[in-house]
Amino acid sequence: MAAIAQYDLHVGGTEVAPANGSFYETVDPYTGEPWARVPDADAADVDRAVRAARAAFEGEWGAKTGFERSRLMHKLADVIERDADRLAELESRDSGKLLREFSGQMRLLPSWYRYFAGWADKLAGESIPSDKPNFVTFTQRVPVGVVAAVVPWNSPLLLLTWKLAPALATGCTMVVKPSDHTPVTALELARLVTEAGIPDGVFNVITGNGPDVGRALVRHPGVDKVAFTGSTKTGIDVAEGATSHLARVTLELGGKSAQVVFPDADLEAAANGVIAGVFAATGQTCMAGSRLIVHADVHDELVERVAARAREIVLGNPLEEATEMGPLANAQQFEKVTGILKAALDQGATAACGGGPSDLGGYFVQPTLLTGVNRDSPAVREEIFGPVVAAMTFTDEDEAVALANDTQYGLAGSVWTLDIRRAMRVAQRLRAGTVWINAYRVVGPNVPFGGFGASGIGRENGYDVLREYTETRSIWIETSGATRDPFTLG
Ligand code: NAD
Repeated sequence: MAAIAQYDLHVGGTEVAPANGSFYETVDPYTGEPWARVPDADAADVDRAVRAARAAFEGEWGAKTGFERSRLMHKLADVIERDADRLAELESRDSGKLLREFSGQMRLLPSWYRYFAGWADKLAGESIPSDKPNFVTFTQRVPVGVVAAVVPWNSPLLLLTWKLAPALATGCTMVVKPSDHTPVTALELARLVTEAGIPDGVFNVITGNGPDVGRALVRHPGVDKVAFTGSTKTGIDVAEGATSHLARVTLELGGKSAQVVFPDADLEAAANGVIAGVFAATGQTCMAGSRLIVHADVHDELVERVAARAREIVLGNPLEEATEMGPLANAQQFEKVTGILKAALDQGATAACGGGPSDLGGYFVQPTLLTGVNRDSPAVREEIFGPVVAAMTFTDEDEAVALANDTQYGLAGSVWTLDIRRAMRVAQRLRAGTVWINAYRVVGPNVPFGGFGASGIGRENGYDVLREYTETRSIWIETSGATRDPFTLG
């Protein structure tokens, strides 16, 4: 067996053992073997990290101009770019997701730091014409302070970057709690942050097994803002923890996104979009297009096209180039996905392809397209976070929109049609934070991403996210020198 990689916490620019001396081993989901040993920290380490982040915020980092922050962010982008292949392999071993997927993500990652580096020196307030003759008024955008980031296992570095890049651009500092399942790459990123010359304490990483470290972090009174990505259930607890001490909070949560296919769609492209939406990344993405809402006239043809391609999907070792779908990330996920599948089939649904665990064993599940699903079943209502899509039919546009919006979630959705008027009509009626037309699963640093309803609060990416990491300070300057009646509102 290969040697197990060993890591410490990253606090105040140095690698330190946890105060309690405890470590735990993380498992490579493909081999099922432990592959890294990381600290199982506790509230004492959280406190140490928040203090380090506060010191940096009030010290060297807080004193830097946007121009200086921008320069350091470009350096960080460069070292990430240099190490993209290595980081992709580490992400894949940590999470079991495809090396192919992570190679793409890691090549894109620097563009997030470069895009937000471009904002760092342009965070201007507004000059506001005064409603009083003797005042000049303007606003400033000031960093919110110490940010607690709590991130999931499915795209660890990308989702961390969606928080770290705007945090650095605005002048905030950060303590991150990576997922218990994928702690390694955040610790590796911390080394690159140091190498880029970003001051000690700006970026701190605390790992821990189970919810305790995350709970302690979001409830720490020294945290000014919490940026969370994860499940809706955990998100509610995180929001309660953050608001208990009035920290600002953004939540990127789950989804049950709809792919709406009209009869005039390019069915080959739509079938490809369905595959990309729910079988890529083994369906373990928040934006998975897990409900297929297809016009009755083209239902059978589309189902057959998707099923035919799904049967050919190459399952296997995530590190191999030819592999198209890896295993689910852990035993818990495997139980959940196969449980929901079995319940749907027991209730009378039909699997046009797949339908259960794969012959490969381990945490592998077959790519599955269900038809005839009971609309109240968990396969239609719950986020599965696996390679399972449920198809439903409609006969007119209103019914399609009603079906698509019949969910507590509102993260994403797509419309497949060659009729531009219909595409625009339907896109504007979908209650979702992102709508793709004739496409699926596309994101960029410059376009806001986030959810309606149970899919979250706030937005990441684009100019929108900068508001989430800054406070507005309004400044009033009196220009006459005259005194006023002190007992009236000025
Ligand atoms: P999760 O909610 O179980 O855990 C997310 C993170 O929170 C982990 O780091 C975990 O250790 C930590 N945590 C757990 N309990 C906590 C608590 N009580 N207080 C503070 N922190 C706590 O989610 P997961 O299983 O790691 O990830 C999958 C979920 O993430 C899915 O629901 C998926 O939709 C969602 N997700 C959303 C987006 C998005 O941008 N909207 C992106 C990716 C994943």
